[in-house]
Amino acid sequence: MHRTLGIDLGTTNSVMAWIKDGEPEVIATAPEESGTPSVLGLSGDGTLLVGREALNWLERDASRVIATVKRLMGRQFKDPKVRQAVLRMGQGGPEITEGPDGGILIRLGDHDYTPVQISAIILRRLKRDAEERLGTEFTRAVITAPAYFGERQIAATREAGRLAGFHVVRVLMEPTSAALAHGLGRAHDADQATVLVYDLGGGTFDVSILTLMPGFVDVLGVGGDNLLGGTDFDGSLADHLQGLLNERSPGHEPLPGDASKIRKAAEHAKIRLSAASSTEVIVSPLGESGAVLSETVDRKHFENLIAERIEETVDLTRRTVTEASLLPEDINQVLLVGGSSAIPLVAERLAELFGREKLRTDVDPMTCVALGAAVQSALVDTLDCPDCRATCPLDADTCSDCATPLVGTPTVECPACHVPAPENTGSCPVCASDLSALSAQRPAPPAPSVCGECGEENGPDAMECDLCGARLRDSGGLKCPSCAFVNQPGLAWCSLCNAELPVAAPSDVTPRPIGIRTSNGSLVVLVEAGTRYPTEQPIRHDFQLTANPGDMLEIALHEGDLQPAERNDLCGVSMYELPEGSTGTKALTIAVHLDGDRSIRLETRLDGSSFTPAVFRRNPLPPEFRRRARETHGRFQTFLADWRHELTPAESAVLAETATALEQVVRGEAPGRSLDTLLEDADVLLERQQSVRWATALAYRYPHHVAELMPDEDLEAMLRHRSALKSMREAADFDRGHKIAEEVLSIRRRLGEDLYKVMSALAFASHNGVNAALQQRIQQTGDMLTEAARQGDLARVDAAKSRITDLYADMRREQAEFRAPERRTVRPEKPAR
Ligand code: ADP
Ligand code: MG
Repeated sequence: MHRTLGIDLGTTNSVMAWIKDGEPEVIATAPEESGTPSVLGLSGDGTLLVGREALNWLERDASRVIATVKRLMGRQFKDPKVRQAVLRMGQGGPEITEGPDGGILIRLGDHDYTPVQISAIILRRLKRDAEERLGTEFTRAVITAPAYFGERQIAATREAGRLAGFHVVRVLMEPTSAALAHGLGRAHDADQATVLVYDLGGGTFDVSILTLMPGFVDVLGVGGDNLLGGTDFDGSLADHLQGLLNERSPGHEPLPGDASKIRKAAEHAKIRLSAASSTEVIVSPLGESGAVLSETVDRKHFENLIAERIEETVDLTRRTVTEASLLPEDINQVLLVGGSSAIPLVAERLAELFGREKLRTDVDPMTCVALGAAVQSALVDTLDCPDCRATCPLDADTCSDCATPLVGTPTVECPACHVPAPENTGSCPVCASDLSALSAQRPAPPAPSVCGECGEENGPDAMECDLCGARLRDSGGLKCPSCAFVNQPGLAWCSLCNAELPVAAPSDVTPRPIGIRTSNGSLVVLVEAGTRYPTEQPIRHDFQLTANPGDMLEIALHEGDLQPAERNDLCGVSMYELPEGSTGTKALTIAVHLDGDRSIRLETRLDGSSFTPAVFRRNPLPPEFRRRARETHGRFQTFLADWRHELTPAESAVLAETATALEQVVRGEAPGRSLDTLLEDADVLLERQQSVRWATALAYRYPHHVAELMPDEDLEAMLRHRSALKSMREAADFDRGHKIAEEVLSIRRRLGEDLYKVMSALAFASHNGVNAALQQRIQQTGDMLTEAARQGDLARVDAAKSRITDLYADMRREQAEFRAPERRTVRPEKPAR
């Protein structure tokens, strides 16, 4: 049975939990530390530092340490939230720049990293720590994300998990997770409960109001301030301590590291003050003189320092309640979540607002989100195949329909840039370092187990005793509240006593509407905000489509509610080649299905015939990238359509492979390699293919039509190149073909424009490429020219050449008038009612 890790991937701290003996348990990675700081750094010699180590390195060299990367996940560089977050990171930190795709790049040492890659490195470290600690392999994960995360942030989170080597079973909303950890949302809680989750963390404050009903969670409102949290309180206390030091040691000359020493001491004192009414702070040596800071801070004083900020959180809480059209009385329970909500003033103020009896402080606020993720891992009863969306049993390794893995891919760490890559990858997708010699580390396989009931020796993978059926291994299911039997995951009823289990695996709701862009650019919403998913039935909408032969249908999916559609986040684009005869106005139906992992499946039917369904995996690919991919894909399609009959099988195969990869990107799927390289390679491939094609045409036409007018050595070279190009095209060797093509083009230049025009006119006339009268005139002049050249009559040669050049101009004019219509893109229209 594959085990699933519950991960709270926090802004300041990440916490892991799993189900042990039927109950959620935090996996501590260091004594007295329930979480790992979500911080990554590189030491002076390039060693990767994660967590506490990275945080300590911050004092040494802040330019090589990145914290609070969660604020940048799935966002574009130009997003105002990114600017705020970067300002907040302060000076001296790593350089943060705009990536070629409009995304974000973080410079650490010699490499640029995306927020997804940074998070993937952190997640991979968490995975390794948990596996080392417990000797159990975690191939799957439930990862939590804030309620306000949009599709792109969720997708970025999922992608980071995938890169780290997990099959991400769910991306669960943090407040939902907190509710699960508090045992809310059980199937037998018949009545609905309205729960307010107050989550005050290290750098963010989130408040969410949920309605929990058996089996699902509805979000009534979210609010907060994503730049307010525990670090502000550390700052206030540190400033106060610094003031005292300056007062007591006049003329004190500080040293560079002093401020962070005081800040660290302030954070520790703050945490102690949540449990004690006063505490000692001692920091030394400080400054040139080696001064000692020694103060007693009492809770009352500390709370005065931060009272204003706590009041802000209370105001935001009140506002969120009002905006959800509720009164404080309507809230049944208030969950205190996030490390900073342990500050007693928080509970005091919330008790005044809601009544003390409603506050739930029984689950550790630092770990409750992770615990909920673990609970969720025990509730998931089936897996959705990430590729074909088939529903698969939990114990499957791969999808029975399409063989896509349903467990994470073992990863190796690139020795140069530290980004994880799947085992057996030849070179690092980020920095191209050689990875071929690396193999993934896995925990030792379980030993054979002797049954505690009957003494039978069972195989290493046996879950139950072969002889007496007793349970041998924990498979990650929940304990029955009635008989304490530990069940398999995903069960609704205890398999021993038949009692109901706390199994209400909650469905989440979409935070924002999802719609498509129509022919006039406006957004038409397909899925309203607050729609519960997975959807039981596809959501259908009727459109119509007006098309001409050869048009392409574009369905662009956006998340948001702004007009026009382009102002919203782009989730993905699907392009369809319209079938023959789809001219005029036809009925178009679009059906949307939202899966449990927040993928969108789109089924499109035009006048009764369906297109291949598109799955928008909502990965973090930024719109700019998709636009580029779409353009390149369009050029590939045109090229393939124009030259379909002339390509060699090898050429078709190479082009089709790249076209498929581009199509995946256009749909919003990750291509499994660097996007930049994919797009660049595709451009180069098309360019080379075009030049090879063009050179082949020239190398045939010159010798065929104007051999007599060419110097012998050029004619021979053309013939030689012609056969070389043929064999290179058969092998799809575009690199060498491209070099030969260059030579062909240089011969063409050397032979001059006039001869080129003569050759083109003759070539077109021989293919019936022009009208009959013109064709006849060109051919007659061509015969004259050949004749004159044979006789060596230069004057007549020149006369015939200039005549054909004129005819060439006529031919071009005619061709321009009859140019084939360009492929147009059409979009759905709202039918007239
Ligand atoms: P995030 O969700 O942003 O990662 P956490 O929920 O892990 O944040 O909270 C981290 C913050 O909580 C830090 O600022 C830390 O100093 C603070 N914190 C942790 N424990 C306590 C405590 N007992 N009292 C007050 N603050 C605490
Ligand atoms: Mg948190």
